Amino acid sequence: MLKTLQKVHKLPRSTHKSSIGVSGNKLLRIGIDIDNTVSDSYTDYLKVYNKKLGVNIQYHEIEDFYTLGKRYGVDFNKLNLIFQNCLVDQKFQISFKAYQDAVSIIQKWNTYGHLIHYITGRPHTIKKITRKWLEINGLMFENTTLDLIHMKRFGQDADFKKETVERLGISIMIEDMREIVNAIGIPAILLDRPWNQGKTTANVKRVSSWEEIDKIVDDLVSKIGDLETYPELPV
Ligand SMILES: [Mg+2]
Repeated sequence: MLKTLQKVHKLPRSTHKSSIGVSGNKLLRIGIDIDNTVSDSYTDYLKVYNKKLGVNIQYHEIEDFYTLGKRYGVDFNKLNLIFQNCLVDQKFQISFKAYQDAVSIIQKWNTYGHLIHYITGRPHTIKKITRKWLEINGLMFENTTLDLIHMKRFGQDADFKKETVERLGISIMIEDMREIVNAIGIPAILLDRPWNQGKTTANVKRVSSWEEIDKIVDDLVSKIGDLETYPELPV
């Protein structure tokens, strides 16, 4: 079945083939991380850490979330235990606030016909609650996929995300982790955060807002080709 793209998205033809989705379809498959990209997760984790550890770490001080304990003299195992408990706390996981500018832009992309693929370093054991959070916040659509990491298969998030963007034929990835965008080898947008400062590879564009991301995606689309119709794809 063919679906007509909205006139607002009428596009000039180009030869930018690297951004064409799988099966040669001229549309964007947009890969999106969840935590701290569409979900304001660290804000809530930090509240729990500060309360349980009796410290007062500020968001802008987070240089590396997973080694916070080292910097603040807190034992890693103690911090990791709090983190693991938070991961399986469904009430906690469902309570994260979504960045509203991200929500409205992703919803707009969906109406344009782009395919949305969430690729998160969360363990696959919390897929159900993660999907529920996406649904509650208006971020799941027809053909949207959700991939979480199988810890036994992948030693690092970057390996998992690299393989997943290749498997899905992702055109562009939106992330907050520098080691991931530097490793995946496809066009990537890095949302500027306190913990991702430093050098990035040539495929990466650092931005400070979702408004900037929207403009980059528009620009990328304008280079792809004339998209009057496209087939709906199986996922
Ligand atoms: Mg993230």
